[in-house]
Amino acid sequence: MSRVLIIGAGGVGNVVVKKCAMIPEVFSDIMLASRTLSKCRAIAEEIGGNRIKVAQVDADNVAELVSLIESFKPELVINVALPYQDLPIMDACLQTGVHYLDTANYEPKDEAKFEYSWQWAYKKRFEERSIMALLGCGFDPGATQVFTAYAAKHHFSEMHYLDIVDCNAGSHGKAFATNFNPEINIREITQNGKYFENGQWKEIPPMSVHKPIHYPNIGERESYLLYHEELESLVKNFPTLKRARFWMTFGQQYITHLNVLQNVGMTSIKPIMYKGVEIVPLEFLKAVLPEPSSLGENYTGETSIGCQIKGIGKDGKPLTYFIYNNCSHAEAYREVQAQAVSYTTGVPAMIGALLMLTKQWMKPGVYNVEEMNPDPFMELMNIHGLPWHEQFNIELPHEYPV
Ligand code: NDP
Repeated sequence: MSRVLIIGAGGVGNVVVKKCAMIPEVFSDIMLASRTLSKCRAIAEEIGGNRIKVAQVDADNVAELVSLIESFKPELVINVALPYQDLPIMDACLQTGVHYLDTANYEPKDEAKFEYSWQWAYKKRFEERSIMALLGCGFDPGATQVFTAYAAKHHFSEMHYLDIVDCNAGSHGKAFATNFNPEINIREITQNGKYFENGQWKEIPPMSVHKPIHYPNIGERESYLLYHEELESLVKNFPTLKRARFWMTFGQQYITHLNVLQNVGMTSIKPIMYKGVEIVPLEFLKAVLPEPSSLGENYTGETSIGCQIKGIGKDGKPLTYFIYNNCSHAEAYREVQAQAVSYTTGVPAMIGALLMLTKQWMKPGVYNVEEMNPDPFMELMNIHGLPWHEQFNIELPHEYPV
């Protein structure tokens, strides 16, 4: 029986709240707080029965967060607002002695820079306060690191090559939309690509390396090498990795729109003056694009996200391994009125919270998910809507050159 405060009532927040509400024996009292109260109310009404309390909060404001936490008294805060809010929410957790979980690493608003340094710097303070922060517990980051930890624990004596492969083969019928917060999504893919090889990070121009990759039940899709935050913690926690890369699919229509938006300056995060008011073009673009939470209805197709790993098996022989989950947009919508990208993020956040609250994953400090025992998480993925599959010694196109 635990009280949990969920911050952020967007696409992912909707899934986390609904999945937590389905397990009252763990999540006995739930509060959803966000910037726009009406969005919290709409989700609470869909669940019904006065099960969910709601509140308005500006999560950039530590004092406001502290007073909300002190009045509701949760054991854990699940942060599914935006990465900019990670540090204020961690500060409020430190002040109030409450555990913390998020799904994306901190980024400063004025610079698209993805790294864990800011949040890892809280480790000692969280240890001293006897509270835990679990970082990046969505799908990628999140489940992909649990997959890697599971492979290391059960199948490999040494992992050498890791490729995380992320495909959204769905169609939402809109000319251009992003599947999670547009501002964060566009910042992520318009920065330089980066991968890890032989102890070094190698940078490439944005979207400049791409290959067709085969996805189960989907087929071949053009996949682009991007930098993704979980690579940073994975190469640190699995030092035998000689190479670690992240690939994501994009359709031609998406790329054409993105190129135009970039060429005309709409993806810039540098403020400009417009009619005497300072605006950030990317923030304005977000305001005119569809909300990720609105894409679910009529979304067809599925996502497929997994880890392809090559190395030496427990028996000392070379091993090639693929572990993945496929998730249907329509099924996610039927269950929680969300598309699969929000669903595949929200379910792992709920699972991580459940493991923390039931003390299966609980130690003071700041952790990435691959530092925890993967087994209970893997079991809960099968139970709560994200079944996974393994393939051994299949041919993997590991030599995609860069
Ligand atoms: P949305 O834009 O749909 O939702 C974000 C929510 O946060 C909105 O309700 C927004 O409020 C609220 N919010 C923003 N700023 C504040 C603030 N200052 N105070 C209070 N609330 C605030 O995004 P998503 O739901 O798609 O994404 C949520 C998080 O999940 C992001 O951090 C994203 O990076 C992460 N993510 C992680 C993935 C993974 O696999 N690990 C995959 C996809 C997303 P308002 O409605 O007023 O704008």
